Formats: sequence, structure tokens, C-alpha cells
Amino acid sequence: MCRFAYLRVFLRVYLCSADLFILHRRKQFGLCVKLLTLFKCYKPYPKHKTITLKIDLHSHTTSSDGALTPIELVQRAQQMQVDVLAITDHDTVAGIQVARDYAQSENIAIHIVAGVELSTSWHGFDIHIVGLGLDIQDTEFQQRLTQQLQERDSRAKRICEKLTKCGYPGIYDLALSYADGAQISRNHIAKALVERGAVDKAQQAFSKFLGKNKKAHAAPRWISIEEAIKWIHDAGGRAVLAHPSHYDMTTKWLRRLVAEFSNLGGDAMEITHPNMAADTKRLLQEMMTDNKLMASAGSDFHFPSRFTELGRRLELPETVVPVYHDWTIMNQAPLLNRG
Ligand code: AMP
Ligand code: MN
Ligand code: MN
Ligand code: MN
Repeated sequence: MCRFAYLRVFLRVYLCSADLFILHRRKQFGLCVKLLTLFKCYKPYPKHKTITLKIDLHSHTTSSDGALTPIELVQRAQQMQVDVLAITDHDTVAGIQVARDYAQSENIAIHIVAGVELSTSWHGFDIHIVGLGLDIQDTEFQQRLTQQLQERDSRAKRICEKLTKCGYPGIYDLALSYADGAQISRNHIAKALVERGAVDKAQQAFSKFLGKNKKAHAAPRWISIEEAIKWIHDAGGRAVLAHPSHYDMTTKWLRRLVAEFSNLGGDAMEITHPNMAADTKRLLQEMMTDNKLMASAGSDFHFPSRFTELGRRLELPETVVPVYHDWTIMNQAPLLNRG
């Protein structure tokens, strides 16, 4: 009897540490897991605790190129009944404290995850790495972000010099006024080009001037993926490969990207999006599993529109390990108020 108790304790410890391994292979281990759970040797990841939560782990505010202020974003998240919201502005964490203070002062039952979306360069591609669960007071991390913001400004100037040569002077100042104190992005330059009448819509600014190999494209000098992962880990966060299906690359390159991201110590990847085709979802999930990454999902909300909304259709399949599977906030009572 006593020996059996020892065996149970041993199995429990061993299996908990192998949790991720098992979860990724539920099909193979299904019966085994059921038996062990029956004999109380193994407690699988408690799906029921998070299944009712509405979770969105990728969003923007006016601190980068989003249309809503951090406070407006929290208000919208509340309207959309989002329980857990990561604010992940491009290369800045400036909006997070404001959002948290507002949620707290208004007693809003929402958990704001401190996030960021770091711009990196990889073989000529702009790859975005989301960081989740960061210590935003970390001074080294703040200094590192300042370095990125300097490159943002320098690239914007290079782009605008090219635009001057294309016959559109003064775009830099106009874009700065659109940024309104936030760090400058190509979205602000696109808005300036619309105002100047160079294009009708911001989207056209990318296809005519700002996109890769277009007239006013200036190659950015972002940090490497390796550095981004290190910055995020040093600040206590988890590194997530953002929107893998949005990079204009072949499946072969995408496989290479995911494998390299994982080998460099990346933790998770976004595997779903409201408008994603089923076969793309399958492909991303396969890449995630092959590379032993966890799963994440976010709307990449920039502004309210027909196509993007906070927290909409972002459910992760039951068979994956969510990036938040061990976050204690997922067990906090106020977040479970909704049915
Ligand atoms: P940046 O970080 O300054 O290079 O700007 C990238 C941002 O511009 C992305 O996060 C999108 O919000 C937006 N963007 C990039 N490519 C396009 C595109 N083709 N059409 C519209 N917006 C885009
Ligand atoms: Mn953006
Ligand atoms: Mn992005
Ligand atoms: Mn984004």
C-alpha cells in the first residue's frame, strides 16, 4: 500500500513535468492519460478554467499605430466582454500603465497583460515578435526599446527623403503630427500620403510607396529575432511569433522561420485569426507542434472595423498548449464572472 503511494507520488511529479510533452501528443497518450487520471496519478491541464474566458493576446493603441487610446481600448474590451487583454504596441509599452490604472479605477473585471510587438529583421523580412507578461518597470528593457524607437525615427526619415524625391515633400512632419507624440510608424506616413492626395487610401500607400521593393521603401535595421527573444525573456516575458500567415513568404520559408524561432528559444506562436482559412490553421498548428511551441491568439486589433474586433473568434483548439496555460491570472475569481 505504502509502496503504491510512493509510486503515485513519483508518477505525479514525473507526469507534471512531462505535461507539455503529453499535451502535444494527446492522441497517442489518450487512453494512458485517462487511466492515470482515474487513479489520481495525473492531473491534466484544467481546460474548464479557461474555456469560458475571452482572451485576446494582441492589440494596439495610440501609443503605436492603433486608433483607440489605451482607455478607449479598455472600454471597447469591456463592451466586447474580453476578460484577458494583452496590449502589444509596436516597440513600446507606453500605453499599459494608463490602461491598467483606468481598469482599476473603474473597477473593470479585465486583466491587462503587459505586452509588446517587437520589430525584427530576418533575411529581408520584417518579422514581428510579441512579448507577453513583461515587467514594464525593467529599466534595461526600457532602454532597449528606446534603441528601437530611434531606428523607427531614422527609418521614417529615410522613407520621407525618398518620398520627397517622388514629389511629396514635408511628409515626415505631417506623419509626426499623426503620430501625436507616439512613436512613428508606416501607418502614420500612409495617412500623411492620403492627406497629400498621393493615394486615395492608406492601403494604396503601402502597395505604391511603403511596401517591400516599392518606390519609397527603406530597409529597416531592426534587431534580430534572437535579440528580440532575449529582450523579452530578460524582462520576464514569453516570446510569441506574431501572425505567421501574414508574412509574404513561401511555406518552405515559413517552416524555416518557425523552426529557427523555436531553436532560438521562442516560446509560442499565433495559430489562429478570425478570417483564417481552415487549411492555414492546420498548417500552422502542425508547425507549432513539430517545433514544440505553445499556442497564442490575438486579434491584432488596430481600429474598429468589419473585419477586426477585440476577442472575436480566437478560441484555441483543445489539443494545444496555450501560452497562458500556467498563468495564475487565469484562476482569478473576478474574471470568471461571465458564464
Ligand atoms: P511599421 O511597424 O512602421 O513597419 O508598420 C507596420 C504596420 O503597418 C503594421 O503593423 C500594419 O499596421 C501596417 N501595415 C503593414 N503593411 C501594410 C499593408 N500592406 N497595408 C496596410 N497596412 C499595413
Ligand atoms: Mn500596426
Ligand atoms: Mn505585426
Ligand atoms: Mn500587431
